[in-house]
Formats: sequence, structure tokens, C-alpha cells
Amino acid sequence: MFNRILIANRGEIALRIIRAAKSLGIETVCVYSTADKDGPWLEHADKTVCIGPGPSPQSYLRIDRIIAAAEVTNADAIHPGYGFLSENAHFAEVCRDCKIAFIGPSPEAMALLGDKVSCKRMAKQAGTPIFPGTEGAIEDIEEAVKVAHDIGFPVIVKASAGGGGRGMRIARDEEQLRAGIEAARQEAAAAFGNGAVYVEKFLEHARHFEVQTLGDQHGNAVHLFERDCSSQRRHQKLVEEATAPGVDPKKREAVCTSAAELIRRAKYSGAATVEFLMDRHQNFYMLEVNTRVQVEHPVTEMITGIDIVAETIKVTAGEKLSVKQEDVKQNGHAIEVRVNAEDPDRNFMPQAGLVETFVAPGGPGVRWDSHVRPGYRIPPNYDSMIGKLIVHGKDRETAIERMKVALDEFKIGPIKTTIPLHRRIMDNDDFVNATHDIHFVERWLKKG
Ligand code: ADP
Repeated sequence: MFNRILIANRGEIALRIIRAAKSLGIETVCVYSTADKDGPWLEHADKTVCIGPGPSPQSYLRIDRIIAAAEVTNADAIHPGYGFLSENAHFAEVCRDCKIAFIGPSPEAMALLGDKVSCKRMAKQAGTPIFPGTEGAIEDIEEAVKVAHDIGFPVIVKASAGGGGRGMRIARDEEQLRAGIEAARQEAAAAFGNGAVYVEKFLEHARHFEVQTLGDQHGNAVHLFERDCSSQRRHQKLVEEATAPGVDPKKREAVCTSAAELIRRAKYSGAATVEFLMDRHQNFYMLEVNTRVQVEHPVTEMITGIDIVAETIKVTAGEKLSVKQEDVKQNGHAIEVRVNAEDPDRNFMPQAGLVETFVAPGGPGVRWDSHVRPGYRIPPNYDSMIGKLIVHGKDRETAIERMKVALDEFKIGPIKTTIPLHRRIMDNDDFVNATHDIHFVERWLKKG
């Protein structure tokens, strides 16, 4: 097992990784930027190293400084968390070259599943359901036009190297498709240095369904069931739950199994999430694979009792997965809301500055994963998420009721947060009845 893990991240996920490492008797090193010098999570690390100024390109994204910090502190592994360098295959490769374990997949498995075209090809072989569309990246526009007519409009043009919603264009007819391919190619080339794009069917009404998987270096792979993350705004998830309500058990079992098969074939070690859209008839179409631990992993931990972050550390150290598929059991239902420092009344404007009042909720089945405490000053440089409130109950109704009570207990000020929006979502009929889709929050906010 590792002696000391360097955490190449900040905030709540840095704290989450510290907790997992401590539970395994491993020391931690946190790197931080000057904007995070008073970050409360740093107090819990065994060592800390400043790696540069606030803007992440000068600190949390600096591979050279992170590797140097690992070397001077004698860290034998690096956990990238989510965001920043977590899906950067080059970083994983540099770690390997420097003989520091990267807690995540091999650079090869990451590149294979991180590229949407190669991922889709492998998914097809694994029997994971994919969107109908072009076989690979578009070489000939006429061929793409023909495919679009065959599958029927609307279609969506997407970047092979895509991420963060960039390089995507919806096309409702042939003219839009031709223009969309050009525009998406340029956007993708500028954003990712790779202009490859492909075309797939566009779903108008869909739910977001994603399968949590874990793999080890011995050829084992399991799924830990699914999450529904259909409450979104601008493609950003707001609320996530495990498991997805109202899905046919046979279809669910098939899609979860196919996701585990995909990562097994990719020789994947660590945590991966296979994301799907589900249409009204409960047909599934793979969107992409996230090759890292996700923000919403706690809901899966709550219903399975498996510490996903600890598993990623253990499998990277060469251990076998601690569970076999038949040992993975679902207990109840869990819901997470992302508490963002944003003002829902002012177009979700990010809020930086001092947190004066801070009282987190408690009680049965309530978990609060956050680095925030009274007196903490939120820096303006990073993501606005300041914590995740997770509740667990024997069924979905109990979880929703617990979430309402917990949200009502929460006191944070003077900064504004997304708590009032979450409270409204818990009362929304579409959410409660699971008749929602990925656009329901936006439609509803527009109505006022
Ligand atoms: P990114 O990696 O840029 O986040 P994704 O492939 O995950 O891209 O897609 C982002 C979002 O775009 C999805 O969550 C969904 O809302 C929408 N989207 C992507 N592909 C489709 C599709 N074929 N049909 C409908 N919506 C889609």
C-alpha cells in the first residue's frame, strides 16, 4: 500500500480524499494555490506545498509543479480528484514516467474511453447501447448527410475530444447540418486541438442515467448501480440520486451490466462513470465515459456502503476489488444536491467572499461533504460548489422528505446559495413523480 498520497485538487474533494486516505492509514500531501492558503482542508493534510498563484493554469494545472511537489515530499501516489488534471492522459503518463502512481486508470485506458469516437466503438463491441449515427469521425460530409437522413433529424454534431458542452451543434435539417459540421470542427479544433466531429441522433426528451463502475488491474469490473442526474441547468448537474426512479428492472440490469463489461474490456482500473440518456420508452444511449471519480459519487456510497474513493486507492496499489458483482446490494435511496455559491435570483451569479453564518443540517441519514466553515472566504478563482448535501432513506419518498428538512435547517450567509432552488425542486411535481427530463429545471425557471 502507498505511504503518502499527494492530492492534486482542492476544496471538498481534497477533504474527501484525505478522509479516505486516513481510513487506510495513508499520509496525505495537499498542494494549494495562494488563493487557497487558508483552505480549511489543508489543516487535515500531513504536509502542504504551495504550487503557485490563484489562477489554475498557474497552479492546479501545472504538471511540473505538482510532480516536483510529489518528489520533494516523497509521495508515492497522486490522486487527481475531479476536474483539473483528472482526465488528462498526458498527466497520467508523466506520473508513470516519474514512478509515481496515478490514482485512476492507465493513460491508455483513459485515452481510449476519453475519446468519444474510440469509446463508442468499444461500447458497440461490449454491447453497451449507443446512439445511432456516423461510424466514427466524419471524413466525408456527404456521408454524414446520408447518415443523418437515414436516422432522421434532429441530429447533433459532437466533438470527438469534447467536454464541457463545447463543440456541439444541433441540426434540424440538412442545411443546419452542413453549417453545424463546419462550426463544430472549428470550435473543437480551437478548444481541444482536435477538430474531429461525428453525428448522432438528438433526443428531445431524455433523462440522464449514469452507471457507476469500478475496475481493478486483475481484469475484474463491477457496477454499483446507477444514478439519475436529470436536474440540470446549462448541462450542469444540480441534483443527483441513486438509483433512477421508475426504470424497468430488466432494462436497468442490462444497461448496468453492459457498462461494467465496457470498462472490463478497456482494462480499466479505478472508478469510471458510463453516462447515458434514456428516452421516454426507456431506451438507453451512451453519452460518454468519465474516467474519474465524480462529484455525485456519495449517493452511490450511501446505497451500497462501498467507499468509492478508498477503492480507487486500493486498486491502484494493486489490490483486487473488495467486492464481486453479487456482493453489491442496494439499500434504500439517496439524493444529493450541489450547494453552489450562486444567487438563483440574479441569474446564478457566482458569489465570492466571506461566509459569516454557517450551520449545516444533521439527523438520521444526512451527510454533508464540504470544506466550508464560518469565517471561510470563498475565493473567486474556482468552481462555485461549496458543498454537497446528501440524504439517505429507506425509499425515495423518505429521502425527499429528509432532504426538505435538511435544506430548511441550513443557514449560510450573507452569501447566496442554490439552497432555495433545491428546496423548490424537492416540491416540483415533475421531480417528485419522476416525469422530469434534463430540461425541466430550465423550462420551469423560464416560466418564473
Ligand atoms: P460534454 O462532454 O461536452 O459534457 P456530453 O456528450 O456529455 O458532452 O453531452 C453534454 C450534454 O449535451 C448532455 O448531458 C445532453 O444534455 C446533451 N446531449 C449530448 N448528446 C445528446 C444527444 N444525442 N441527444 C440529446 N442531447 C444530447
